[in-house]
Amino acid sequence: KAKRAGRATYRFFSADIDKLAEERLMHSTALREAIASEALTLNYQPQICTRNGAIHGVEALARWHDPVLGEVSPSKFIPLAEECGLIEQIGVWSIKQACQQMASWRRAGLDIPCISVNLSPINFQNVNLAAVVAQILAANDLPAKMLMLEITEGVILNERATVIATMSELRNMGVGLSLDDFGTGYSSLSRLAQLPIHELKIDRSFMRDFENDQGTRAIVTAVVRVGQSLDVKVVAEGVETEPQRRLLAELGCDAMQGFLFARPMAAAAFSRWLLDYSAHRASLMLRQVGRAL
Ligand code: C2E
Ligand code: MG
Ligand code: MG
Ligand code: MG
Repeated sequence: KAKRAGRATYRFFSADIDKLAEERLMHSTALREAIASEALTLNYQPQICTRNGAIHGVEALARWHDPVLGEVSPSKFIPLAEECGLIEQIGVWSIKQACQQMASWRRAGLDIPCISVNLSPINFQNVNLAAVVAQILAANDLPAKMLMLEITEGVILNERATVIATMSELRNMGVGLSLDDFGTGYSSLSRLAQLPIHELKIDRSFMRDFENDQGTRAIVTAVVRVGQSLDVKVVAEGVETEPQRRLLAELGCDAMQGFLFARPMAAAAFSRWLLDYSAHRASLMLRQVGRAL
């Protein structure tokens, strides 16, 4: 009896796996077509300097709208792309797309210091990454310091010599490097000090308990201090509330990003947002000057 139940379970399980494999194949085909047909786009989310409210930078986040599947989250399709060998293409595509957009904003006179692009660890294993980046920067007439590449902390765990070598090469070119989702991996502090990075991004999971939980607050405080002593900028992601903003400002966190300021937006919406934001900020500053006089 037990044996029969076992076999039934097995059969059910195996059918499930077949279905999963089939689904994955279908989705990877759809993703391959999406890359070719421009169904992939980038959205842009601003990062704000804590000190004076100026624009610190903008992060480019990939979006996939499929006619059948609908909106597919990058936390679904990036792992899929990594599995089915499409991540190389997506990496190059997003750097190219982001740099083109940045160049076009520059021509339009928008003042944005830097654009951040997310890359997968696999992208950093490509020995040609630095050369590809150099070529894209040149094609768009962008200084290297206007590009920041984000790499998740987990990468450092199973780090390979090629990853660090590529990072150093990029850093020597003047490209910025940011350690994303910091605090979710297990990189040691001594290792952190050796990494060729310019920025740490505190993972947004810390924001949830930040206001009420002493332990979480202690960790965030420590990360900000570590950043300061290593001369690395600290950016908080997932900032949603005014109390979170105020606490981070008190701690001396350099910049913030989150729904409190703006959601990720399509390029046109982002430029409208930026013009609005800058006008509002200018009038606030004028009022302050007026009050001081
Ligand atoms: P990430 O780089 O840590 O990006 C931050 C995520 O938090 C984004 O999710 C963003 O939309 C979301 N977010 C921003 N502010 C808030 C907030 O105030 N509250 C909450 N709850 N969420 C906020 P998204 O766009 O779904 O991206 C998820 C992850 O997918 C990214 O995490 C990044 O690791 C990856 N990803 C996105 N685009 C790309 C890409 O072009 N290439 C690669 N390799 N990975 C990408
Ligand atoms: Mg990121
Ligand atoms: Mg992050
Ligand atoms: Mg994240």
